[in-house]
Amino acid sequence: MPANYPSWNDSIYHTHSNAKPTRWRYVKGVLAIRVENATYRGCLPFNGILELVSEQPEKVNGEDRYQVYCAWFGVKPPSKYPRILVGEGHFEIISNYSGEVIDNLSTQDSSLNEIPVRGESLPEEIEKTDNLIEGAVRTISINAYERNPIARRQCINHYGSSCYICGFNFGAIYGETAEGYIHVHHLKQLSEIGSEYVVDPVVDLRPVCPNCHAVLHCRIPAYTIEEVQEFIREQKNA
Ligand SMILES: [Zn+2]
Ligand SMILES: [Zn+2]
Repeated sequence: MPANYPSWNDSIYHTHSNAKPTRWRYVKGVLAIRVENATYRGCLPFNGILELVSEQPEKVNGEDRYQVYCAWFGVKPPSKYPRILVGEGHFEIISNYSGEVIDNLSTQDSSLNEIPVRGESLPEEIEKTDNLIEGAVRTISINAYERNPIARRQCINHYGSSCYICGFNFGAIYGETAEGYIHVHHLKQLSEIGSEYVVDPVVDLRPVCPNCHAVLHCRIPAYTIEEVQEFIREQKNA
């Protein structure tokens, strides 16, 4: 079960008619369910694969209900999670699934979206989390460095798509589906960056796996690449 979820917030809505899958994550060898025309409390129908809590559905008011690990406006499994309604015959249980699963159902309406909690967010959301501390404008620029497709490509062309810290390679572990998937970490601290700053993809960026990326961002300012490499070395020698 993924551990990275924002906290439950009772003051925000947890359903919305415009909701749809907005975030995905990679999983390996989990119990999953492929759904077609699924809905959750009246949202628009969606298709995709979700990680299942249990192979056995629960009977609720005469209906079979499967529970899934998926965030919903700040829903935090396993104490709280959405129940997604699937019409009969429109789902398939997959017992040993590796690949992408839907990780969040949300809406583009920002007033209703979840607020990530520091230290609990997914690697993809870390920059959003920094938002709360560093201020929106600068965060968007940092975000852009790690997401900028041209800078990303030049970084990966130079360093390859294996994690610079631990060597993890998505293609080697998950096969073709995940080949080339990697995060890109921006080495510079926000405070070092002036308005004239232009990212150098080789000097300023490194390919890192989502795990190492999360660890890099466990502290503000972020740990260095060398520090995280040292954590791994220490653990191995412990
Ligand atoms: Zn790594
Ligand atoms: Zn980063």
